[in-house]
Amino acid sequence: MSKFWSPFVKDLVPYVPGEQPKLAKLVKLNTNENPYGPSPKALAAMQTELNDNLRLYPDPNSDVLKQAVAKYYGVQGNQVFLGNGSDEVLAHIFHGLLQHDKPLLFPDISYSFYPVYCGLYGIKFDAVPLDEQFQIDPADYAKPNGGIIFPNPNAPTGCLLALDAVEQILKASPDSVVVVDEAYIDFGGETAITLVDRYPNLLVTQTLSKSRSLAGLRVGLAVGHPDLIEALERIKNSFNSYPLDRLAIVGAAAAFEDRDYFDKTCRLVIEHRDKVVGELQAKGFEVLPSAANFIFARHPQHDAAGLAAKLREQGVIVRHFKQERVAQFLRISIGTPEQNQALIDGLSDL
Ligand SMILES: *Cc1c(COP(=O)(O)O)cnc(C)c1O
Repeated sequence: MSKFWSPFVKDLVPYVPGEQPKLAKLVKLNTNENPYGPSPKALAAMQTELNDNLRLYPDPNSDVLKQAVAKYYGVQGNQVFLGNGSDEVLAHIFHGLLQHDKPLLFPDISYSFYPVYCGLYGIKFDAVPLDEQFQIDPADYAKPNGGIIFPNPNAPTGCLLALDAVEQILKASPDSVVVVDEAYIDFGGETAITLVDRYPNLLVTQTLSKSRSLAGLRVGLAVGHPDLIEALERIKNSFNSYPLDRLAIVGAAAAFEDRDYFDKTCRLVIEHRDKVVGELQAKGFEVLPSAANFIFARHPQHDAAGLAAKLREQGVIVRHFKQERVAQFLRISIGTPEQNQALIDGLSDL
């Protein structure tokens, strides 16, 4: 702490990301990255872009990518907002659309960045408990609010909320923005983007970090009514008018265009997720139903922190959250078959 800080910085509680170990040999199943590489077409597009043009600023509107996203989802360009990872997109959403007198609602077990943004922007919030089965109950959100946000599938539970339940939440709060954070939707869910033309209060965010294997590139997006997008553009252009660099724009656009590779890698992750779930259940784990590229599991006889430490000794890292309600769970990303086997081997003496 220093006397030079703006006063509010003293009270900030920053987000703590999952470990990015320097040791290359570790089996990294702790941050939900895709075990398969990016689309070869995305890599080729970025290689082509590595040229003298890098001395020039990128397109401030990232039009090439905006058009690729609009085409992919069948929406208009003015319904799409782009940022450096969906974390940046979310930051602008909290700032530009969720700062109201009434509290923001989100699940008590959810993406731990949400309360951090509330702290940064001074937003009041009300954490709504998940039900006994760790599911979101739409009825719990039918109360006065200044906005609603939840991941779908939820993180870190992996549980999916059906589209008609999402609609129930939208209908109950027509005067609030409802943000559906679809970071993991491609691993078994159905996107709510198909609803944006019917619900002007719906904003859907997605990222290229998970299903498109580009966590290192930092590209995220939001799709919604042009009025919502305009608020985000205002914030962006008051903050950083060139958020995406030249490589990110062409790489992300090519990734959206390469549907075959995307379909193939998503299918593999889903297939191996189901396999890992079966193997963990055979060892006595209780695994929440997952529609994501990770699973959330607990063992009735073994302490989660102890299991995480034990796995780590064997070179496998998984994520453990200290929050009381889920302190006995481990969040485990789905890896390649070899990585998943290392996980199962690491638990062989259970
Ligand atoms: C990973 C994740 C994000 C952020 O992704 P970016 O890498 O910043 O695009 C957003 N929301 C949830 C729920 C996530 O798990």
